[in-house]
Amino acid sequence: MPTATMTPIPNTQYLDVHALRADFPILHRRVHDKPLVYLDSAASSQKPQAVLDAMERYYETTHANVHRGVHTLSEEATVQYEAARARVADFIGACCPKEVIWTRNATEAINLVAYSWGRANLRRGDRILLTEMEHHANLVPWQILAAETSVDLDFVPIADNGTLILDDPDRLLTPRTRLFAFTAMSNVLGTINPVKELTAAAHRAGALVLVDGAQSVPHMPVNVQELDIDFLAFSAHKMLGPTGIGALWGRRELLNAMPPFMGGGDMIREVHLRESTWNELPWKFEAGTPAIAEAIGFGAAVDYLDAIGMDTVHRHEQEITAYAMQKLSEVEGLKILGPGPEQRGGLVSFILGDVHPHDIAGVLDSMGIAIRAGHHCAQPLHERYGIPASARASFYIYNTEAEIDLLVAGLHKVVEFFSY
Ligand code: PMP
Repeated sequence: MPTATMTPIPNTQYLDVHALRADFPILHRRVHDKPLVYLDSAASSQKPQAVLDAMERYYETTHANVHRGVHTLSEEATVQYEAARARVADFIGACCPKEVIWTRNATEAINLVAYSWGRANLRRGDRILLTEMEHHANLVPWQILAAETSVDLDFVPIADNGTLILDDPDRLLTPRTRLFAFTAMSNVLGTINPVKELTAAAHRAGALVLVDGAQSVPHMPVNVQELDIDFLAFSAHKMLGPTGIGALWGRRELLNAMPPFMGGGDMIREVHLRESTWNELPWKFEAGTPAIAEAIGFGAAVDYLDAIGMDTVHRHEQEITAYAMQKLSEVEGLKILGPGPEQRGGLVSFILGDVHPHDIAGVLDSMGIAIRAGHHCAQPLHERYGIPASARASFYIYNTEAEIDLLVAGLHKVVEFFSY
């Protein structure tokens, strides 16, 4: 049995998790008088002290509005804010910072493409290809666009094992398909999709590619130039950064040709009473005062992840996930959704007999264990499997095998409690 205090924490082969956990103040708190076991990073990750410090330091020493001022604070704030953009651009292998547009989150990044590129480029009879495993963030913006423009939506189906079935790409990637928008990693099944292959197939068919990187950019190396994709959406809060900021990366020539998403200050070059001209990239898409402290926090988060190395992050999570899958399969009546550990990232969704996932999460919470229950903003995916909801444990750099043992011990209690 794992100890109640969870010390010492065994390291995985790849990371000194014990040392690293000291950087995350929240991991030292207790919940219902038990040590917190945080297994909900796919929803939002925790923040290291370096990120908290960067934001606090900015507010304590530098805060002023960016871009507009000629005074020292404004100039310093602008330098820090734009340096964060350069860090994030570098992190994803972008050619240059101007290809990174700050948004509020991954959702807004996808909406930006749907509104701006979609409305300017799509016509009745054009098609957008999505998959059955998409998060609502990569479904609903396209549904709204389809309703307005009479564009048709197609969907790559999912096999029972949670992988995409794209063995007949010509049927789904038709000559009218203008965009293939898919997630790099499912937030429910954990499936890691073959982004490079899917992108090559889409490009052969003449379609652009938008990758929902909300679950991939935080957890594995992602290089937009190597993948050869056209757009990438992701959120800071899932990768150790603050809420309120995310990014859209896009190819410069595509972004240059796209009309603005929102109008207002900062996104303009000249404004007259009846007409305006637009600022250059990336500011053309950033109307109004931006999330300055959050951008700086995002830069600090990327620095933290870079210091560990994204290969190491990924290998650590694969090790934890393989361990979790093995241990969870020993729980009576537990069924894991999605593929084997070799094809998945750091999360496991499951159902447990007839116990409602909310009840599972409630019992675990009383033990200090935070997991997520529901449809995880992927209702069509759950419909595909004929279930209304699932329970999900998701992992990050700070999770340990000892925490998995506590989760499994908790689930044994759930089984006992509901004694199905
Ligand atoms: N796509 C995927 C695959 C996700 O997991 C999430 C977050 N759950 C999103 C998009 C949306 O991210 P955000 O809420 O930060 O916009």
